[in-house]
Amino acid sequence: MKFELDRVFIEEACRDSAIARRVLERLPSEVGVEYVADGRAAALPVADQADPFAAGKRRLILMRRRSPFLMACPAGSGEFACCGYLVLTLASNCPMDCSYCFLQEYVADNPGFQIYANYADALGELEALSRKAPGRHFRVGTGELADSLAFDGLTGLSLDLVDFFARRSNLLLELKTKTDEIDNLLKVDPRGQVLVSWTLSPPAVFQSSEHRSASPAARIEAARRLAEAGYGVAFHLDPIIAYPQAEHDYLELLDHLFAMVPPAAIRFISMGGLRMSPGLRSAARRRFPDDPMLAGEEVLSCDGRYRTFVPLRARLFRVLSERIAKQAPGLAAYLCMESATMSERIFGRRPPNPANLGEQLAKS
Ligand code: SF4
Repeated sequence: MKFELDRVFIEEACRDSAIARRVLERLPSEVGVEYVADGRAAALPVADQADPFAAGKRRLILMRRRSPFLMACPAGSGEFACCGYLVLTLASNCPMDCSYCFLQEYVADNPGFQIYANYADALGELEALSRKAPGRHFRVGTGELADSLAFDGLTGLSLDLVDFFARRSNLLLELKTKTDEIDNLLKVDPRGQVLVSWTLSPPAVFQSSEHRSASPAARIEAARRLAEAGYGVAFHLDPIIAYPQAEHDYLELLDHLFAMVPPAAIRFISMGGLRMSPGLRSAARRRFPDDPMLAGEEVLSCDGRYRTFVPLRARLFRVLSERIAKQAPGLAAYLCMESATMSERIFGRRPPNPANLGEQLAKS
């Protein structure tokens, strides 16, 4: 097991679930296990801890999800460039600790690392979607509130997911990760229905800000191996941080990526600038006061988030999109959580509407 846990809590109702059985089989013997009536109580912050959010990451809770698993990506609106992604929430929080991570604010009141043992209900929701719109293609991601593959060695969840998606031609699964946890994926055949995407940052950002994640080189190597094994692979340059050497470092990262993974094997590259709500910015700077990547000057955007000055981030988007176009002509590149005006500025056209872009990415 790559990440350390202090304790595992299992909701009584999930005692006999497949996931609880697998976790108990593989859990190191020194990690204590406790059965609880309601996992939600175990997910609450513990008041006398110095950093309740960090402590929550070390408390694994296997519990039922009481609300729907499937929802439209929260970024999707007429205001922002969007890819029509559907979010499947199978877990909440993450054992890694990136200094810019929005979970520091989003799950501050609920920081326990929850994995939902009733994920068969999620597959039921997907089945209903697939049957309701058999002529449409949907891209469904599990990496919104958690890393898709952290702890996959413990839960084996990816094996069930790949098996499900491999048998549905209009559903594409996107697993999003900052790990190189691919052993389970290499055992199964995705039959073209599974895409694994990595968030990539230059080594300088990895070292200062992406604690306990796999190195950029290890992520790229994992992508190369999965592409060879028949998986679609994709990359998110997100958040792009405008530090002094950023342009050089991000271009070097792209060059390394294209040297290791054949551009023809890459489905898309998304780009998004660092953005932080005032609450997230305060939490991040409080938890990581020495991180130089959090020290940049920013302006408050119209959506209430702090972003790098428009000319600085537009220059980075332009330079990177030009390098992608040069090294990998025809490779789809798009902006995430940026205005349609920014998209027009970088690509010379407004983004397609979310449903069309989602459909295109799900099929490509
Ligand atoms: S890997 Fe993703 S979910 Fe995990 S801490 Fe980093 S940004 Fe957050």
